[in-house]
Amino acid sequence: MYNALGISYGELALKGKNRGNFERILNTRIRNILKGTDYKLIIDSSKLYILSDQENIDEIIRKVKKIFGIVLISPSVRVDNDEDEIKKAVLEAAERAYENGARNFKVEVKRSNKKFQKRSMDFARELGGHILVNSKFEHVKMKNPDVMIYLEIRNSTYICTEKIKTYGGLPLGTTGKGLVLLSGGIDSPVAAFMMAKRGMFVNAVTFHSFPFTSTQALEKVKELTEILSLYIPKTRLFSMNILKIQQEINQKTNKELATILTRRVMMRLAEKLAKSRGYGALITGESLGQVASQTIGGLTCTNASVKDIPVFRPLIGMDKTEIMDIAAEIDTYEKSIEPYEDSCVIFAPKHPVTNPKLENVLLEEEKIEGYDEIMEEIYNNMEIFTFE
Ligand code: ATP
Ligand code: MG
Repeated sequence: MYNALGISYGELALKGKNRGNFERILNTRIRNILKGTDYKLIIDSSKLYILSDQENIDEIIRKVKKIFGIVLISPSVRVDNDEDEIKKAVLEAAERAYENGARNFKVEVKRSNKKFQKRSMDFARELGGHILVNSKFEHVKMKNPDVMIYLEIRNSTYICTEKIKTYGGLPLGTTGKGLVLLSGGIDSPVAAFMMAKRGMFVNAVTFHSFPFTSTQALEKVKELTEILSLYIPKTRLFSMNILKIQQEINQKTNKELATILTRRVMMRLAEKLAKSRGYGALITGESLGQVASQTIGGLTCTNASVKDIPVFRPLIGMDKTEIMDIAAEIDTYEKSIEPYEDSCVIFAPKHPVTNPKLENVLLEEEKIEGYDEIMEEIYNNMEIFTFE
């Protein structure tokens, strides 16, 4: 039945001189995500449509849903602007809706092609009558009908009964590049998704403590990055082994501050990487009060290790259950809950300080001789993985 997919993008972001640029990026993104699928991309009276055969449309919907900057997609039947053809297609759409349980309907016509003779209101009424006479429907309902039958009369006519809400946001890459600190947990993949949705091209960095953490721990983060790459094509994962500095922290400093000191190590290394590769911001999955290191005191100490770029924490005000819902929606949840050892946990104190003071943390850090050299060595041994 469906042979076209209407694409609507967020109006606000598309105002003014950004519009052409955003449209170009979206078009490229659609082309890339649909590589290997049979389809045609057209613009009909300034609206974008993907034309394809019925058997491809479901797959196209599934893929296009993942593109940021699109707010609605409408699976449609496209016919010529011929009254008889339109009536036939509208009746078929109505019959399908009836079979699916709808018992009343409303027809809405938008006519952007003024060459089409009939006025929208008149034609809508006529089509409503046509459905009442020729189908099992007995009622039109103007307010909250069971099914809306939308018609858009452009160079062709598009009939649709279902508008699917998608992520919205901004087209990937239009707000810059960010680097997410990606662990194997639930939160950081969601944080990456949230910023990508706002148009950031997000790459990831992960820290492990091999051989104290297993190779599976890194594998898991790779698999999470792979899932994220469905939303962020060509994303990268940088990986660093921080064991050496963790051992120093473990031997030389107050055990209760180990987690914060390790977190500062991660932030520093991430900032160095961001600066050398042009990422404008760091992203973490922190959420206020979730664990001891995510109190205001903890965040103050972590934040102070980053000098020149902002740290985005898109989950800061969210509850764990809200974060888990998004993780499930974007398909990272199942992977995230698989067991693994996080590198933070290796030397994690039994009783971490819940509200660490920055001055104490700085004093502890000074106890580590050759801190900068060890960090340099860690950085230079970084590995890089690319995803399609
Ligand atoms: P997550 O579910 O993302 O692991 P979390 O609730 O377990 O988060 P923490 O372990 O305190 O919280 O980590 C806070 C944030 O620090 C993470 O969201 C992530 O951005 C970053 N982080 C923690 N561990 C690592 C790691 N091994 N590699 C990279 N980033 C990490
Ligand atoms: Mg974690």
